Amino acid sequence: MSFSDIKGHSVQIRSLLENLRNNRLASAYLFSGPEAIGKKMTALNFAKFINCPVRNDVPPNGGTISNGVNQALDDSCGECPSCKKIDSLQHPDVFLITSEAEKDAETSLLGKKEASRAIKIEQVKEMEKRSAFRPYEAKYKVFIIDQAENMTQEASDALLKTLEEPPKDTIFILVSANEKLLSATILSRCRRIKFNALALEEMKEILMECYHLDEKKAHFLSCFSQGRLALALEIKDKDILREKNSLIEDFIYKRIDFRDRHDAQYKLNLFLSWFRDLLLLKLKARPTLINIDKEAYLMKNKDSYSIPELKDCIGFIYKALFYLERNINLRLLTSLTRIKLCKT
Ligand SMILES: [Zn+2]
Repeated sequence: MSFSDIKGHSVQIRSLLENLRNNRLASAYLFSGPEAIGKKMTALNFAKFINCPVRNDVPPNGGTISNGVNQALDDSCGECPSCKKIDSLQHPDVFLITSEAEKDAETSLLGKKEASRAIKIEQVKEMEKRSAFRPYEAKYKVFIIDQAENMTQEASDALLKTLEEPPKDTIFILVSANEKLLSATILSRCRRIKFNALALEEMKEILMECYHLDEKKAHFLSCFSQGRLALALEIKDKDILREKNSLIEDFIYKRIDFRDRHDAQYKLNLFLSWFRDLLLLKLKARPTLINIDKEAYLMKNKDSYSIPELKDCIGFIYKALFYLERNINLRLLTSLTRIKLCKT
């Protein structure tokens, strides 16, 4: 894994490389942007790049440019002991700090973990202790704090102290999909790099070219994941179109059942895509349908709902997703969903 494997984000990577080239590395960065788009992967690869002893530095404009990065030259080697140790998170100078609950929980980008997620003060104190020493073998010590918004108030205060007097040759990278939850003082200490979700067409192209998906599947995954590549990749091997259509069919015949919260979130998002398509067709908005593989069916069925009814259904799904995050009783949610969304 190296910069050339990261899809999109060329502007952000180029800006980081410029920082390094011009000797203007910040002691703290904030990588912000939607979930599952590659922020953490970029952070790890940046740690690799700045520490790779055999990376090639070339004058700007040298080599071939692709994905905004000098592919052949401006990248870590991926093969040296330093690169390999970072890949396996075994490097003594590169640390990934995550919420306590996440360490044991199976990470799923489709659903939220049910356990409480917090980065605790003990983790920040440990980081502070480690940052006090000079790097063992790397040029720079790197601490990547994933989902930094999950820091407790105490942890955040402790981090602020460290950021106010940053140790030499040490870089902190805060990764967050919800920077509004970070304190203003922490934000003021970080150089912000903003990441964006991939554009629909860009992502479709990546899924087709790099992952050999057919066009219909690539289209659905790009829309459904809203440009979040990691989320699309998580479900790319499923027979997603068939699964989706059978779920929607079940739903039409009132056979809604939620196994758990994760399942409910997944299904509600599928239904959302369905109602969104129906509404756009009714509004004659010449939409890019998400369920393009079911266009004929959608056209035939669009008149079973009125526009206010569709808006009502969409509103209900957003509310359901909101309450799902706040531990609504699943049985209650299932029966409410049946009542609100299914036509009798
Ligand atoms: Zn290397």
